[in-house]
Amino acid sequence: MTTSAHSTSTFTTAHSKDNNHSDTLDALIVGAGFAGIYMLYKLLNLGLKVQVIEEGSGVGGTWYWNRYPGARCDVESMEYSYSFSKELLQDWTWSHRYSTQAEIMEYANHVVDTFGLRPYIKFNTKARSAHYDEARKEWEIKTDAGDLYRAHYNIMATGTLSSVNRPRFEGLDSFKGEWYLTGRWPKEGVDFSGKRVGIIGTGSSAVQATPVIAEQAGHLTVFQRTANYSIPARNEPLGAEEIDDIKANYPGIWARATKSRVGMGFIELGTKGALEATPEERELEFSKRWAKGGAGFGAAYTDILSNEAANETAAEYVKAKIREIVRDPITAKILSPEITLGCKRMCIDSGYYEAFNRDNVDLVDVGSAPIQRLVADGIQTTDGEYQLDIIVFAMGFDALTGALNAIDIRGRSGMALRDKWADGPRTYLGLASEGFPNMFTITGPGSPSVLSNVLRSIEHHVDWITDCITFIKNSECSEIEANFTAEDEWTQHVEDVAKDTLRYKCDSWYVGANIPGKKRVFLPYSGGLPVYREKCQDVVSKGYEGFVVS
Ligand code: NAP
Repeated sequence: MTTSAHSTSTFTTAHSKDNNHSDTLDALIVGAGFAGIYMLYKLLNLGLKVQVIEEGSGVGGTWYWNRYPGARCDVESMEYSYSFSKELLQDWTWSHRYSTQAEIMEYANHVVDTFGLRPYIKFNTKARSAHYDEARKEWEIKTDAGDLYRAHYNIMATGTLSSVNRPRFEGLDSFKGEWYLTGRWPKEGVDFSGKRVGIIGTGSSAVQATPVIAEQAGHLTVFQRTANYSIPARNEPLGAEEIDDIKANYPGIWARATKSRVGMGFIELGTKGALEATPEERELEFSKRWAKGGAGFGAAYTDILSNEAANETAAEYVKAKIREIVRDPITAKILSPEITLGCKRMCIDSGYYEAFNRDNVDLVDVGSAPIQRLVADGIQTTDGEYQLDIIVFAMGFDALTGALNAIDIRGRSGMALRDKWADGPRTYLGLASEGFPNMFTITGPGSPSVLSNVLRSIEHHVDWITDCITFIKNSECSEIEANFTAEDEWTQHVEDVAKDTLRYKCDSWYVGANIPGKKRVFLPYSGGLPVYREKCQDVVSKGYEGFVVS
């Protein structure tokens, strides 16, 4: 990996370690990803007794598990960073515009060690259940490692894209080769040299992994069910001057991010509709953004995600680029998406379409000829059999609800969260759910989360939860719980706002369509971060309106 100078100093660590899980904690945090790390930092600084439990053997959350070849950030690293500490912002230096998974892990570890957080995290410890004890007004959290914690607050920092969509193919056990999940990649890596490799999926994970595996493998077959759009990242090392400039201008960048629907200060948001521009203007604008690379392409015009005709202009531009890049016209055609641009999250790549020009890469359309089963020597589709030594499943996640529903969470009267959410998640602001007092879900369903730079959404939620806990403490109350009406209205609002976007109609993980049997509900809040922040602030200003504080 690329490691440039990163850290030069250590600062602010003013709390003592005093955690014994036989005592009642103020807060138990599940997960040591970016959300859990910052939540821990904030609550320790309030002087609370806090414990984090983490399934992995290290911090980083989804970045810890997703160490597949080519894994890197698709939000620019200089803003895929915590903003809460001026010192941290100046101290840490990213090496590339989009950093590798390994460098992101280094950053997460740097933050944890800089602020002295590691002693409060118990690794290799998976939350199995969290039950609310109404008499004691405490949460009782049990782990797979046999621990039992009691805590006043139960904070779920379990991540939005962390519960892996595991393969359910018939015959998986009969496959004689090796197989791997991008979302649970082995630490020791995988040797692809000379091997016949198959990768199932063409979402962000596969789009990042494909060019890298193609370089290492003897032969790579990409099994594509639905073609998606990918924009070149134009990743490159960051120059010293650029880094200094960004570091000097962070306050302005965060101010812009706060006003941005997607919480990104770097992305220039278009100010008019695509159809208000002439074809020549559009061509120029899309070309400028294609040349710059990254997610800014989708923000060229205000109506790309709300107007079919506007969307078509951007979609056509990308399809023309695919035809330009991919030499074989049949492969180019199969790679050309038929879906609306952005309805499945757009991918950001480094040489994805170019990889199909290699002699050792083939594309198989399993949309028209589906995978029937795995067999001893590979994959059988309705069209034939593909002989493979290694299969990589890049099939995504049970997004937003999967990690929460994987834990047996029970609130008042033993109500199970997964039963309550059987017809889709019901939350108030994505932060809390009625019947589950003193439980918070960081970037939970019903909040902007995955529709924003998630670091901004995480920081917003953690700050809000910290203020809320401070309020409860100061008001000498002991419980806070979303009320039914507020939750009902918010859940409906999340659905109503989503209906105005083109994303609503498409089969994607945004609506749970990638998981067989999952209720189709639009999961994140699509009203934009500024509107959402205002709503959260308004709730606080009105004395936690919509919550019952007792
Ligand atoms: P994904 O976008 O859900 O893609 C999963 C892929 O697997 C899709 O192409 C899907 O096809 C295919 N698939 C699923 N089940 C299949 C089956 N039974 N047969 C054939 N194909 C099947 O998952 P992902 O690529 O892991 O990305 C998920 C999200 O994680 C991204 O959208 C992004 O938000 C995040 N992510 C971010 C980064 C980053 O750089 N920051 C990197 C990776 C992921 P269909 O489309 O037909 O369902």
